[in-house]
Amino acid sequence: MPQDLRSFLEQVKKKDPQDICIIKKEVDPAYEITATVTKLEREAKRRPILIFEKVKGSAFPVITNVHASRSRLALAMDTKPDKTQKAYLDALDHPQAPKVVAKAPVKEIILKGKQLDLQQLPQIVHHEGDAGPYITAAISFAKDPTGTTTNCAYNRLMIKGKDTTSIHLTLAKHLWEFYHSAEANGRPLPVAFAIGVHPAIALGALANGSIDEDERGVMGALLGEPLQLVKCETSDLLVPAHAEMIIEAEILPKERTPEGPFGEFTGYSLGQRQREVVRVKAITHRRKALFQDITVAHLDHLLLSTIPIEASLYRSVRAIVPTVKTVRVPAPFTCYVSIEQRVSGQAKNAILAVLGSDIYMKRVVVVDHDVNLFNDREVAWAIGTRCQPDRDISIVTRTRGSDLDPSTQEDGFTAKWGVDATAKPSLEAYTPRHGIPSDVWNRINLKDLVKDT
Ligand code: MN
Repeated sequence: MPQDLRSFLEQVKKKDPQDICIIKKEVDPAYEITATVTKLEREAKRRPILIFEKVKGSAFPVITNVHASRSRLALAMDTKPDKTQKAYLDALDHPQAPKVVAKAPVKEIILKGKQLDLQQLPQIVHHEGDAGPYITAAISFAKDPTGTTTNCAYNRLMIKGKDTTSIHLTLAKHLWEFYHSAEANGRPLPVAFAIGVHPAIALGALANGSIDEDERGVMGALLGEPLQLVKCETSDLLVPAHAEMIIEAEILPKERTPEGPFGEFTGYSLGQRQREVVRVKAITHRRKALFQDITVAHLDHLLLSTIPIEASLYRSVRAIVPTVKTVRVPAPFTCYVSIEQRVSGQAKNAILAVLGSDIYMKRVVVVDHDVNLFNDREVAWAIGTRCQPDRDISIVTRTRGSDLDPSTQEDGFTAKWGVDATAKPSLEAYTPRHGIPSDVWNRINLKDLVKDT
């Protein structure tokens, strides 16, 4: 399977030409790109991939909204839209080691020294209140300075000058850990960012495993073949050979810079904080590179991140409750789980599994398997009719959560809560749900009784 974004676009075009929209008119990268995506979604109910050919102030066209449809993500994973969770779990279970190649399209143009200028890239400002232009589709590639493991992650970059950005390292996550090991020794952490990749690579970057797990293996498994990597110009880091663009850089020790506010997936524009500083050393790119943007806080962002999160949460719950049925992340910091409870107490174990395995998860609702998690009304019904709050709600105080949660009192500290909305002592022994006798259900023919059906 080809590993580049361009081949994926060809595949999408073949399947449904309407799914790609090329915009020829010049747009201002300040707000107009996000506004187009949002208006199309709200007013025209459309979520195509958008390619803006002329972006004011830059020679690079912008591509955005690539991930805003489950059927496109399914296509990238070579599966059906209702099978994405299974496909992702299969990839986690069967990672494919990457392969190093000598030649790569991403080396067609190499910019260093005076040629290097981040301000030549599209300066995309996403939302009102953002502190400046942000790169939202950068996947970081880094190595543990004290070991052999590697890490890939999405990190937002705020453009601060020709060769400088700030970086948002998720507190206590893997790249943050690597950086702190380097900084403790007064050393910079080499890092490279891939921009413009096949969506299978994007999905793999979000694999939410332990620090020892290699996201590149998941990318390969999702692609169906080893991810091809090429060595950087200014470090020994390895990066995707078929990316549209690579930014080679290091994160500097002992330096911080103001970053934000920035409108995030939470739906809030979060305030300014001191964050780490990135010094760029080279940019390499394909000829006529497409500069990828992720429309932050919209479906392009949310669909891409929930498929991997739901799969890893499913895995965590299944380790302790083998009869877990479905896991859904319907809103920020929120998780629904349905289980076929064999013995009482399993619901609470499922709550602990979710809260313990992901710093972002703050509220978990566990329901029986007769409840459809994709229907919020059914989940609310289960909470309303099967839960006694004094008995069934558990609160864990002062855990490490996300510092993007505006409700936290102190930076990143959060309480977490679980709601056991399963029937007690068991679904079988619970007050029966009302129903209609099955012979009556089968006998009733709407056409005989109700006009126009
Ligand atoms: Mn990792």
